[in-house]
Amino acid sequence: MAKRDYYEVLGVNRDASEDDIKKAYRKLAMKFHPDRNPDNPKAEEQFKEAKEAYEMLSDGQKRSAYDQFGHAGVDQSGGAGMGGAGMGGFADAFSDIFGDIFGAGGGQRGGRSNVYRGADLRYNLEVSLEDAARGTETKIRIPTMAECEGCQGSGARKGTEPKTCPTCNGHGQVRMQQGFFSIQQTCPKCHGTGRYVADPCNTCHGAGRVKQHKTLSVKIPSGIDEGDRIRLSGEGEPGVNGGPPGDLYVQVHLKEHGVFQRDHDDLHCEMPISFTVAALGGEIEIPTLEGVARIKIPAETQSGKVFRLRSKGIKGVRSIAHGDLLCHVVLETPISLTDRQKELLREFETISQANAGRHNPRAKSWMDRVKEFFAG
Ligand SMILES: [Zn+2]
Ligand SMILES: [Zn+2]
Repeated sequence: MAKRDYYEVLGVNRDASEDDIKKAYRKLAMKFHPDRNPDNPKAEEQFKEAKEAYEMLSDGQKRSAYDQFGHAGVDQSGGAGMGGAGMGGFADAFSDIFGDIFGAGGGQRGGRSNVYRGADLRYNLEVSLEDAARGTETKIRIPTMAECEGCQGSGARKGTEPKTCPTCNGHGQVRMQQGFFSIQQTCPKCHGTGRYVADPCNTCHGAGRVKQHKTLSVKIPSGIDEGDRIRLSGEGEPGVNGGPPGDLYVQVHLKEHGVFQRDHDDLHCEMPISFTVAALGGEIEIPTLEGVARIKIPAETQSGKVFRLRSKGIKGVRSIAHGDLLCHVVLETPISLTDRQKELLREFETISQANAGRHNPRAKSWMDRVKEFFAG
């Protein structure tokens, strides 16, 4: 199975602070800790995954390596890792993970054969319900890699140049004897580039690239929903050795709304009404995404009744029509009553009780059934 992105594992953005990362990890660790999930191998896996992600992202050096080169940059089985001297570090890890996957034909050309597509990136974007319904355009700032100005991307210290690799004479490939077989392998010294940086650049430590931020404009189509992804083609990590860049996926999360809850294309809202309005009927103003609407409350409306306003919901990205707005009636019991109000209510109750079957049929029939139950 492919390894998940560390940021995705922890559910944080790529520009998350150390504190955010710590908090996210704590939450997951509490949830999936083996002590809390006995005999649950899946939870254990998730615990380990979160732990590994945290260990990488909480260490500044490892995080920066991961940001630049993905899992390959911090792979522990790769030996050298990013701590290695000069180019050795990251390139070792690269060839261990990918091998020479684009090697076909690369050997003949010699060098520059390790061409990789850049990694896909994910960005979590919070969108208000209104913006999601109407569509909008927003700007996001994401970390990216750019050619190092100190060395113009060569990775070599100012005034020096990368040399032809002495191990493979610039071919990028070497022959290795393994038992009876002689096999062609990516050169371990230059990792297939055919070039070798003896004196790495101070700014990028030989990587040829440095971390930067870029601002992108993202068009949010109207009707977009929680969990939808917007793909920005080619805005992911840059490729290696001329490979194509990855894509950037903007993952949409809807902010909580003070009035509406969204369910696909439908909107739901709670509509508290006084029991007097419920009993006598009345008219109520309710908000919709397109302004105020009025609902006529008929007399004798019961708690829990739902009023459906057709086409006052949201038109989903792939929908042909608007959803509905569903208003759920909640009867509000009055509070902080004055003596006068209490007096009126007591009088009201006395009159109601005199003919309970007529005025409160539901309560009456329930009480009758309860009596039967005790009698039986
Ligand atoms: Zn540089
Ligand atoms: Zn070499």
